[in-house]
Amino acid sequence: AGAGTVAVRETRSVCPYCGTGCGVLIQHDGQRMLGVRGDPDHPANFGRLCTKGRTLHQTVHGADRAVQPLWRDRDSGSPLPWSEALHRAAEGFAGIIRAHGPQAVAFYVSGQLTTEDYYVANKLAKGFIGTNHIDTNSRLCMASAVAGYKSSLGMDSVPCAYEDIDLADCIFLIGSNTAYAHPIVFRRIEDAKAGNPNLRIIVADPRRTPTTSIADLYLPLKPGTDVALLHGILHILIWEGWIDRAFIDTHTEGWEALKALVQDYNPQTVAETCAIAVADLRRAAEIFGTARAALSLWCQGLNQSAHGTDKNTALINLHLATGQIGKPGAGPFSLTGQPNAMGGREVGGMPALLPGHRDVLNPAHREEIARFWGVEGICPEPGLTAVPLFQAMERGEIKAVWIVCTNPVLSMPDQAQVIRALARAELVILQDAYLETETGAYADLLLPAASWGEREALVTNSERRISHLGQAIPAPGAALPDWEIFRDFAYALGAALDESGQPAPAIMDGSWTARAQRLFAFSTAESVFNEYRETTRGRDLDITGLSFARLDRDGPQQWPFPEGAEKGRARLYGDGIFPTPSGRARFRAPAYAPVAEDIDARYPLRLITGRLRDQWHSMSRTGKVTALFQHSEEPLLEIHPRDAQRLGLKDGQLCRVSSRRGKVVVRAQVLATAPPGVLFLPMHFGTRFAPAGECNRLTLPAIDPVSGEPEFKHTAVRVEPLAFA
Ligand code: SF4
Repeated sequence: AGAGTVAVRETRSVCPYCGTGCGVLIQHDGQRMLGVRGDPDHPANFGRLCTKGRTLHQTVHGADRAVQPLWRDRDSGSPLPWSEALHRAAEGFAGIIRAHGPQAVAFYVSGQLTTEDYYVANKLAKGFIGTNHIDTNSRLCMASAVAGYKSSLGMDSVPCAYEDIDLADCIFLIGSNTAYAHPIVFRRIEDAKAGNPNLRIIVADPRRTPTTSIADLYLPLKPGTDVALLHGILHILIWEGWIDRAFIDTHTEGWEALKALVQDYNPQTVAETCAIAVADLRRAAEIFGTARAALSLWCQGLNQSAHGTDKNTALINLHLATGQIGKPGAGPFSLTGQPNAMGGREVGGMPALLPGHRDVLNPAHREEIARFWGVEGICPEPGLTAVPLFQAMERGEIKAVWIVCTNPVLSMPDQAQVIRALARAELVILQDAYLETETGAYADLLLPAASWGEREALVTNSERRISHLGQAIPAPGAALPDWEIFRDFAYALGAALDESGQPAPAIMDGSWTARAQRLFAFSTAESVFNEYRETTRGRDLDITGLSFARLDRDGPQQWPFPEGAEKGRARLYGDGIFPTPSGRARFRAPAYAPVAEDIDARYPLRLITGRLRDQWHSMSRTGKVTALFQHSEEPLLEIHPRDAQRLGLKDGQLCRVSSRRGKVVVRAQVLATAPPGVLFLPMHFGTRFAPAGECNRLTLPAIDPVSGEPEFKHTAVRVEPLAFA
């Protein structure tokens, strides 16, 4: 560059918002980000970015970045050097472990973390401290899909690839406003529709959304009735003979029980239950059942439910009954909410999981990982999932919690309960790149984390594709990559446990200090990845053929990618063999069950919460970009004109929305397209942007009994107009 000009460089990365995992080229001068553009070579997006992705560089630099550890006296903060901050954290943890045992401490992490962060945090909790209480905010979005896949197919994995969108002639979108939540996936669906006159798209959603506009057939089902709808479709598939008997006989089990169950789901009854037309139900079955290749795409509309696992298995049943899996253009494709929710599961970053798709409940898996780590054993009890974890905290059973890169005060259901829990905890540590989150107000210790583009890492997107994210610029101040903070904390905790006189485990390295140094001898993100990679050897997700260098040379790759492979596998189960004991996929036969909290005379309206197009989660990043408020400036309550008229509520008028747990005050948006009796509130706005608009003051802590995922998609509420404007 000449004098006075800035030498702009580009570094390869991946957008840190949704699970689409679009490739991004960060433009920078080595110190500051100057811009971004879509990576034309990344197979998730081929150069495209949505509105959020295009403004990413505007979210990194800001006065609210956490740049040094702070010890909080609730309202004020005292800066500390890392050594002192980690010493205080370690003293707190060691004291609680000494007095109450390792089950009194917990970690609550995030699908925003990289694979390396997740691996080290999980090893710290399960391998060093001895607690399985480590859950992630992916519990709030993906857990039911995980449970459904494992239950039906024997493995937690999306069996499809994005290219299947181009190859399908039926796309069934259910419980997904793809146009807002996964915009680049939606563009690909639009392209497929434009290029393939035979493609038929079915959209099932209680709300008419920008996604439903692409539908050839729109099913406006009553909230929570998905299982009935899916069983009703299967009933018709069987009646009409649109099933693949050879596939069922050769590759599945449990068919007769399911067939007997769905006999009762006749079209008339199902149409009444779901509040849709019988003819539309029949047409949906016909499109799906006669398709050459049928692809289902879904997201939180199925997952965020007290019956989320059942909804997932009922959808997978359709694919198994028609043999629509393991072939081009076909399969059940769950769209991951967050950028690395899948990578987190791969390394075992959930309370019932261990690295390499192993399970805590499996003694052989515990033994394998204990041997690999060189520790005496893994606690045989799965830890608590998010909602029960915060409930245990409120009861005083969890006394210290380490929250990483997430904002539970805003994002968890039943906000008042979460606040009570954090207030009761003896020690709350918050590790984040941003200071001003709603959860920060309850933290004793704030630890500054490096953000996107400030460290190198791996993430896995919705189609099992692993990308290498480069470091473009240094992290500000004293901020560090999350995995480095966990490593350094382990060293400090080792010393604190030695000082406290905590009894030594059976396999000891002479001291806790020496043990920490052996278990966490990581110097780079790559050294963490190389250790994790070994845990996948011979497993369903084997990635022993991948390395940072290979990903840089050949670009992002789908797993499995075992040693010796030339490329990853686009789709799974092409051979009809499933990773179950019998090698067959399993039909599940869940009965339809109503929502956890139905409407009644006091709370007569149904509330759905969800995403807006231009905001991400609790807005710690997108809330910095002025342009992203143009789409929606505040949380608006979408309400049907008839409901508004009955309540005397005008468009733009403030109203109070109440549930059994709390109240919010928001402005009404009277929408002719809103379903009668059903309201919608966006999930993003916290006290920083809308003082009384946090939708999770209203939601309930009911969870799916298998997946632990909360029911965000149905809360019984009432609405009252407020007199002032
Ligand atoms: Fe980022 Fe998702 Fe938009 Fe792609 S679609 S640019 S991953 S927010």
